[in-house]
Amino acid sequence: MAKILVATEKPFAAIAVKGIREVVEQAGDELVLLEKYTEKAQLLDAVKDVDALIIRSDKVDKEVLDAAQQLKIVVRAGAGYDNVDLDAATAHQVCVMNTPGQNSNAVAELAFGMMVMAVRNFYNGTSGTELKGKKLGIHAFGNVGRNVARIAQGFGMEVYAYDAFCPKEVIEEAGVKAVDSAEALYETCNIVSLHIPATAETKNSINAALVGKMPKGGILVNTARKEVINEAELIQLMEERTDLKYLTDIMPAANDEFTAKFAGRYFSTPKKMGAQTAEANINAGIAAAHQIEGFLKEGIEKFRVNK
Ligand code: NAD
Repeated sequence: MAKILVATEKPFAAIAVKGIREVVEQAGDELVLLEKYTEKAQLLDAVKDVDALIIRSDKVDKEVLDAAQQLKIVVRAGAGYDNVDLDAATAHQVCVMNTPGQNSNAVAELAFGMMVMAVRNFYNGTSGTELKGKKLGIHAFGNVGRNVARIAQGFGMEVYAYDAFCPKEVIEEAGVKAVDSAEALYETCNIVSLHIPATAETKNSINAALVGKMPKGGILVNTARKEVINEAELIQLMEERTDLKYLTDIMPAANDEFTAKFAGRYFSTPKKMGAQTAEANINAGIAAAHQIEGFLKEGIEKFRVNK
């Protein structure tokens, strides 16, 4: 019988835990919970004898992996997995997976909440514009980007996308115009919605040179990662270009400066809320449990993200 730990500083909804438990127990395994822990020591203690670990934004570093002598697999219930030290996991022969796609619709819907807020002037009582007929640029056509495209078509927007790796045909098959570069996307679109991961290549890549290409009244919506934004350059650009708006689900390090300088043009959620829906929570948690059972029982490595 394998022992599977759900370790969540910010717990799953109770209904998600119930679903995870059903999957694990139906497979004949045991589920243990470490929720709302406040000290790393609690995590180090809890991982000691577990075979599998389900986490959310919880950090799994070398110290955690050293402590987890039986551990075979970690599944991050969610898309981004930069909270897991992949090299250390590989060195410990621990498989790391994410659960791509499970929260994509939730994130995409939030992006539209922000877009409507931006074009309606942050609901300040003045007349705004509509999304219909506007050019939307989707920066990265992955799971979230594809959901954004689907919803944008419902709004009647003209949809463009740039993805460094996704073939143009895949983008065009979705009824979206594929452009050849990020620069072309920003030059073309009234609104750009960011959906790139945080990688060595993308960190700080959303800079003044790029955002500065947007037409007058440009709106940048970020439900991806804060690390991709060059904050100092964006602040300087927004000082020069008083027509630009920035809305984000990932509070910048310089949130106070953004807030003070750009009232009515800047908004951040108080904490990351893109995936915070009952549906996404349940989907990702249950997918994580299925992936663990598939791996432990049948060696299925789909969604593995480390070597
Ligand atoms: P995904 O892996 O499905 O898609 C990412 C896409 O980015 C891929 O199509 C890939 O080809 C493309 N890409 C990678 N590097 C690129 C580059 N340099 N230039 C252009 N395209 C590039 O990921 P996803 O599930 O769509 O998630 C997208 C982003 O949203 C991630 O940053 C993720 O961390 C973030 N996210 C945020 C929340 C939230 O709560 N706000 C929730 C889920 C995901």
